Amino acid sequence: MLDETGQADLADHAPETGHSQTPEAGHYHDPATGHSRPPRREFKARGSFTERCPGCNLPVLNCLCPYRVNAESEARVWLITHPLEHLKPTNTGRLIRDVLPDTEVFTWYRTVPDERLLALLDDPRFAPFVIFPDDQPDYADRVVDMAVVGEVKASGRTPVFILLDGTWRQARRIFRKSPYLDRLPVLPLATTRLTRYRLRKPASQAHLCTAEVAAELLRQSGDEHAAQVLDDYFDAFNVSYDASRRYEKLEQPTAAMRRLLACQGE
Ligand SMILES: [Zn+2]
Repeated sequence: MLDETGQADLADHAPETGHSQTPEAGHYHDPATGHSRPPRREFKARGSFTERCPGCNLPVLNCLCPYRVNAESEARVWLITHPLEHLKPTNTGRLIRDVLPDTEVFTWYRTVPDERLLALLDDPRFAPFVIFPDDQPDYADRVVDMAVVGEVKASGRTPVFILLDGTWRQARRIFRKSPYLDRLPVLPLATTRLTRYRLRKPASQAHLCTAEVAAELLRQSGDEHAAQVLDDYFDAFNVSYDASRRYEKLEQPTAAMRRLLACQGE
């Protein structure tokens, strides 16, 4: 949920190298028939020259795998991810599942709701909240605050933060075009925290990326340890990826990385 335009993050802002592995138009031939084919459009063509780690999908120069740590939380996170978002190596939603293995990830298709998601929404063990700003009057009656999350916990149910994972425009579309979300309470994230995300250009420093939103929700709802681990893991991702784009090898682990390494010994 970063930029208003949906433009800045379509490219994986890897440094330009002057060469590309994408075939030029008119020079691409089917290997079986020899006939020319329309050129394939590589989604992340500009980043494709970079060798990536199969474990964390980051450039191998600064791999994230050594810092992967699991944490436990009372609240859960379910992601409804726009299909275009899955393809982006800069997506931070996946970091949440690395840290919290119970995290569910659903791909959003406007006309075909995910059956498993619909079943989980009806599961009485869970109390789902849609995380969305409260800036429009037409759903004001559904808006709740963090105190309700505490009440849910006290009643023995598991609060679930449903995050709409995409650009701001995509998230708004998911919110507006998914009838099964219409009956859920809307929980706006109230925070003065500014984004630390370096990999995409936010429309505003107040627009947090998906992993930052999850960490802040966990912190505010009482899962401090999980929030700290996720925050540190996001920080390690952010710093590692940013350094690799500058072809810079991180020689020393950052403070966040050292905290994650310390967690692994616990
Ligand atoms: Zn890795």
